Amino acid sequence: MATATLDLRPEVGKFLDSELQQPLVGGKAAAGSDKATFETHDPGSGDKLATVPHMTAKDVDAAVAAAQKAFDSSGWATMPPNERGALLHRLADEVERRIPIIGQIEALDAGKLEPHAQGDVANFVATIRYFAEMAQHISRRNVLAVKGHEAWTMRQPWGPCGYIFPWNFPFLLIGWGIAPALAAGNTVVIKPAEDTPLSAIYLSRLAKEVGIPDGVINVVTGLGPTTGCALSSHPGLRRMSFTGSPEVGRMVAEACGKNLTPVKLELGGKGAAVVFDDVNIQDTATKLVGAITFHTGQVCCDATRWLVHKSIYQKFVDECVKQMKNVKVGYQMDGNTQMGPVVNEKQRKRVLGYLEKGVKEGAKMIIEGGPAEVPGKTGHYVKPCLLEGTLENVAAREEIFGPVAYLAKFESEDEALKMVNCTDYGLANSVWSTDLNRCSRVAEQMKAGNSWINAHNVFPHGVPYGGIGKSGLGGGVNSPETLFDYWRSVSCVRPL
Ligand code: NAD
Repeated sequence: MATATLDLRPEVGKFLDSELQQPLVGGKAAAGSDKATFETHDPGSGDKLATVPHMTAKDVDAAVAAAQKAFDSSGWATMPPNERGALLHRLADEVERRIPIIGQIEALDAGKLEPHAQGDVANFVATIRYFAEMAQHISRRNVLAVKGHEAWTMRQPWGPCGYIFPWNFPFLLIGWGIAPALAAGNTVVIKPAEDTPLSAIYLSRLAKEVGIPDGVINVVTGLGPTTGCALSSHPGLRRMSFTGSPEVGRMVAEACGKNLTPVKLELGGKGAAVVFDDVNIQDTATKLVGAITFHTGQVCCDATRWLVHKSIYQKFVDECVKQMKNVKVGYQMDGNTQMGPVVNEKQRKRVLGYLEKGVKEGAKMIIEGGPAEVPGKTGHYVKPCLLEGTLENVAAREEIFGPVAYLAKFESEDEALKMVNCTDYGLANSVWSTDLNRCSRVAEQMKAGNSWINAHNVFPHGVPYGGIGKSGLGGGVNSPETLFDYWRSVSCVRPL
């Protein structure tokens, strides 16, 4: 094991110490039908963490069949909501008890700082509890007042639901995705990203341990064009959910369209932060620098375009430069690190490529970006970077998905709004001002699923989180409505 030099928790060492990390399908360890495998690596050191089955279409068939069998005959779908809730709470409790373990696995696999990875795991726990609790209080049967008829509607779970996830928040996103589906009585098949399969594998085993029936939570590991494609085009799924890039999202939606499978898409973003002239410059700079360097800028809803009022522009830039220069780039498992690696070499080249293209198109580099060196580590490191220029620039238009913010000036509120909305993306923006009336007015006119005021990246349960346009469709996640997405409504009518 290449991680031998690390100070691992004994349970993590034991977890990583097997030759093949097999996920559970139908409650049994699945090696993959043709025995093909792939490796997952630590992005900060390049060391191999584990070998994982590369599952075929046949394996995906088996996983969907297992989910269907569990739906039909394990009792999960018909269980009284409080009993199902009790099992989900047991899962949440057990995950909570293991936050340090799952957090360390996630930190190693995704290149996250350990406290951030632990925060993601805690968020998973809160999501499971939120939906498990809510599902117990919603009526499954409503009588309708219809003249001359006896009529009622029923809420029933759909059946097997498919999930494809990206690598940036692997465990947290699994929670956001599957919690409402499970609480409503569905079964799930999860395909984690090929860069970060380990926490999903761990979860599939833990689900069995806490007594969730076999086949309720199935995990298939593999690459996008094979395993992912087989899952998104599977006719046995009753619902599909995809989180990832708009390019792959389109393919997934097309595949689902062929089977008429309802699909939810959570895609990329090019969010803006509008900074008015009455802000506390130092404090706002701290929060935005913190946001763009958090998880090395690999956050779909990040503020990547900072639109700043002309009268404070230079002061604001100077403060951001001062703060960003102090961000310590390093190995994610080193306690002093403030910004770790990006997830893989492809992502590093993507970030560096955008810097090059942006500068070629006329953007000015306010802080020199580029590759970063971390002594003793051969991982995928880049420096945080600030660019400035016009919003026509490629670096201001396209999602970079790295620690790069693009600055531009505005003079009026109208102009700021036009600049925010001049994108096909529509995920999340923020507005910063001490005038809260102005903040609300601007927030309501930003064309996106989410508008934050004097904050960026806040996700309380109960507030829907999702995108419009190129950033997604289907109403988002994390709100009460999400639970209703996982029930189909059946009406029954009897003439009197
Ligand atoms: P990606 O689209 O490349 O991959 C996402 C997943 O899709 C992976 O599991 C991958 O294996 C799978 N996949 C790839 N090709 C496939 C195919 N042909 N058919 C089916 N599945 C396939 O995205 P990524 O690089 O992993 O993640 C980054 C993207 O995700 C960014 O655009 C980011 O903004 C977005 N994202 C969005 C949200 C959100 O909530 N809106 C959250 C996180 C990430």
